[in-house]
Amino acid sequence: MNKSDVYKLLDEKQQIFIDTADKIWGDPELSLSEHNATKLYEELLFELGFEVEHAVAGIETAFAGKFGSGRPVIGILGEYDALAGLSQKAGELEPCEEVAGGCGGLAKGYGHGCGHHLLGAGSLAAAWAVKEYLAATGESGTVIYYGCPGEEGGAGKAFMAREGLFYALDAALTWHPGTANEIFTGTNNTSMQVEYTFNGIAAHAAGNPHMGRSALDAVELMNLGVQFLREHIPNTDCLHYAITNTGGISPNVVQSKATVLYMVRSNNVPNNKKLLQRVDNIAKGAALMTDTTFTRRFIDGTADLLPNQVLERALYANMETIPLPEYTKEERDFAAKLDATCPKEEGELPGMGAKYDPEIRKKVSELSDGGNATLNDFLCPYFHSGEQSPGSTDVGDVSWQTPTAQIMTATWPAHSPGHSWQNVSGGKTGVAHKGMLYAAKVLAATAVDLITTPELLEKAREEFKVTAAKGYDCPIEPDAVPVPVEEML
Ligand SMILES: [Zn+2]
Repeated sequence: MNKSDVYKLLDEKQQIFIDTADKIWGDPELSLSEHNATKLYEELLFELGFEVEHAVAGIETAFAGKFGSGRPVIGILGEYDALAGLSQKAGELEPCEEVAGGCGGLAKGYGHGCGHHLLGAGSLAAAWAVKEYLAATGESGTVIYYGCPGEEGGAGKAFMAREGLFYALDAALTWHPGTANEIFTGTNNTSMQVEYTFNGIAAHAAGNPHMGRSALDAVELMNLGVQFLREHIPNTDCLHYAITNTGGISPNVVQSKATVLYMVRSNNVPNNKKLLQRVDNIAKGAALMTDTTFTRRFIDGTADLLPNQVLERALYANMETIPLPEYTKEERDFAAKLDATCPKEEGELPGMGAKYDPEIRKKVSELSDGGNATLNDFLCPYFHSGEQSPGSTDVGDVSWQTPTAQIMTATWPAHSPGHSWQNVSGGKTGVAHKGMLYAAKVLAATAVDLITTPELLEKAREEFKVTAAKGYDCPIEPDAVPVPVEEML
């Protein structure tokens, strides 16, 4: 069996993985409540011949499917959580009107706006193809599919990394649905989320306000304190907040309980911890000023991403070799219509390389018709970067424990924004399925390369030794437990 046989196998059995993705699209579940998806995946992994481990790292919706024996041990990461407020019918050209109980036929108003229904199923397809390769060739090696919950909130992988899970891997591969075919490179900010709940004393706001102590005042003063903090932090650090409980809807009551959720980002975990301490101090100050008390709940945290150039190049070599998806006229037509509903930025070109490298910018401009293409049906030139982007991902935590790399494939129209109704609408199209299958082939082929070419893995690990020399500083506090996003709604 060789890599061409692996692609053939994936083509033959693609329907299993397309059906899985579609089922998860139709039953969107929020971070750390992905119980149906977990059941579906665990059953499928078992049927496909994997050894299944439930509740990995003590998280009910984290799991692993393992096959093979000995080294190397290759991990393939999958996600399957959805987003709130994005319920949508498939194949529609306008957003569904929000109605009670969810619109577009999806329960609770949730939807797969980040394409994790494709991410989980595509990664599983890759892991299965590697398993078939190992079984047919008898090569030494183990493939583990990690079902990683709560990427959108909850940082499942970081909680799994806190248990040291990914140190057992020789390398990890993953992908993300997107609007272009490219290597997902660069690093990003770390993040930490903490919920502050202030407790005061309820009172009639006119009758005896002097008896009351307002928790809402404390939240407002805390936010004000944080606004002043902004002046005195590096300008790449971020301070975001949401008031998740205002204390009620009655202005004539002194609010006795109010909650604010903070997300604090910095360039690395030690700096993020220091920044969080300053926010904690502001909470203390707000409580002192208002004569209230507060409880602090650590929600989640993610580390910065360490890119691995050796793995990136191995992935890219396969992206170049494997034929890109071919689209039908209907698929192109629908993509064009959906693309027409998307916001466009003047001069914006697809792919990360076009942002930073003038040569790549020129090439991508030609390939994408000056950024006007409605479907990016080409491969972006290879680009490696150590550039820090402002967002955060829990793939970062994996990347501190084992060499890790990711790709993006075009599963949506060219200008489809992240976390959008357009992504949900386009999530069951041929374009989405084909982008998923292409990603599965690239991941499977690269895993096979790592199994059959020990020098490649060795080089990736040498690079990792240097980039991860400081060692993993887990952003999750020791006593923190994963909190389902639904619990905070
Ligand atoms: Zn995502």
